[in-house]
Amino acid sequence: MLAILASIGVLLKISPMGSVFEQRTIDVLVKGQGTKVWDESGKEYLDFTGGWAVNNIGPSHPAVVEAVTTQAATLMQTSNAYYTIPQLQLAQLLVDNSCLDKVFFCNSGAEANEGAIKLARKYGRLNKNGAYEIITALNSFHGRTLAMIAATGQPQYQQNFQPLAPGFVNVPYNDIEAIKAATSDKTCAVMVEPVQGEGGVNVPSESYHKELRKWCNDNGLVLIMDEVQTGMGRLGTLFGYEKFDIEPDIITLAKGLGNGVPIGAFMSNLKTSVFEPGDHGSTFGGNVLTCAAAYAAARIIIDEKISQQAEETGEYLAEILNELKSRHNNIREVRGMGLLRAIEFTDDLSPVVVAAANKEGVLLNAVRPNAVRMMPPLTITKEEIDVGVARIDAALGNI
Ligand code: PLP
Repeated sequence: MLAILASIGVLLKISPMGSVFEQRTIDVLVKGQGTKVWDESGKEYLDFTGGWAVNNIGPSHPAVVEAVTTQAATLMQTSNAYYTIPQLQLAQLLVDNSCLDKVFFCNSGAEANEGAIKLARKYGRLNKNGAYEIITALNSFHGRTLAMIAATGQPQYQQNFQPLAPGFVNVPYNDIEAIKAATSDKTCAVMVEPVQGEGGVNVPSESYHKELRKWCNDNGLVLIMDEVQTGMGRLGTLFGYEKFDIEPDIITLAKGLGNGVPIGAFMSNLKTSVFEPGDHGSTFGGNVLTCAAAYAAARIIIDEKISQQAEETGEYLAEILNELKSRHNNIREVRGMGLLRAIEFTDDLSPVVVAAANKEGVLLNAVRPNAVRMMPPLTITKEEIDVGVARIDAALGNI
């Protein structure tokens, strides 16, 4: 039956996701637990993509399943004119554990960024003579809606969808002078990722975010950090901004926030919290079912200090990957932070490496033609890292 469904999916060409550089050999996954997933033939894989940086405590985590099941049997949706307990609990938990004061819940990362941009533009309208322009980085990724492809500084996501939404200026990442040069009296905000994920796992210099924070302070600009990929523990701290010792004005979250249920959020400090009722809204934003699931997942990440675990296992992964590099001279560089890591090759090998790794039983992402990315569950063990990297080693030996 599953095989039939799988072939129907292939025949109907259900729109496949994934990176533009991907060359996958598996089409249908049917089960997941911890770091492992299984395809319809029963073959087991170590998922070094973590369900695309989502399954931070593993897919179908029992606490999340329990929260979804209980909530589904109680109340699945309310009019969004009313608060719900899971929504309030989640908001309080996020506020208590961040430098931000308010939360707006939505359904995805792109939507969280759209909300953050609206908030920054309203701030510009009220406080900066109607300034509306947002500076973002080349090689960034902020989502696939019309405005977010304009924010995303990668031509391959933009070229087929012209004209782009106005009001975004893309400058090189990790280049504070480029931000200074792009700032004008039209600028209201800068939006960057703490570490670029989809752009190839690009870690900025230690001083970049600090200098950016100072520039924003000196010029009255809103600093937005897109933490859709880095938030909820991925870099080894609950939020990525903590790694760089700064406090942004707004952050956006999704992916690991729901650990498998579709939820996003943007959070702001009091200074930038300028929305009034009616400025923004979403029928399913703050939905009680997704909030209950996200609250269960976030409680575990916070109470069980999962980000600290990610810091430690992330260092271990880096060590093991550097050993791998010493055995393969087609590896140019290993880079990343926490459990967001990449291997860069000397040539455009990543599609074949991903396919070979799939065969060996490990899922990877071809984030660039010459680089593969790893973003496994934050609960991955050192033993699983050993096994996964041994499989990648074998895959590299086979190509
Ligand atoms: N922002 C960042 C940093 C991302 O990595 C992503 C997705 O990969 C997004 C935004 C878009 O999130 P979503 O796919 O949930 O819209």
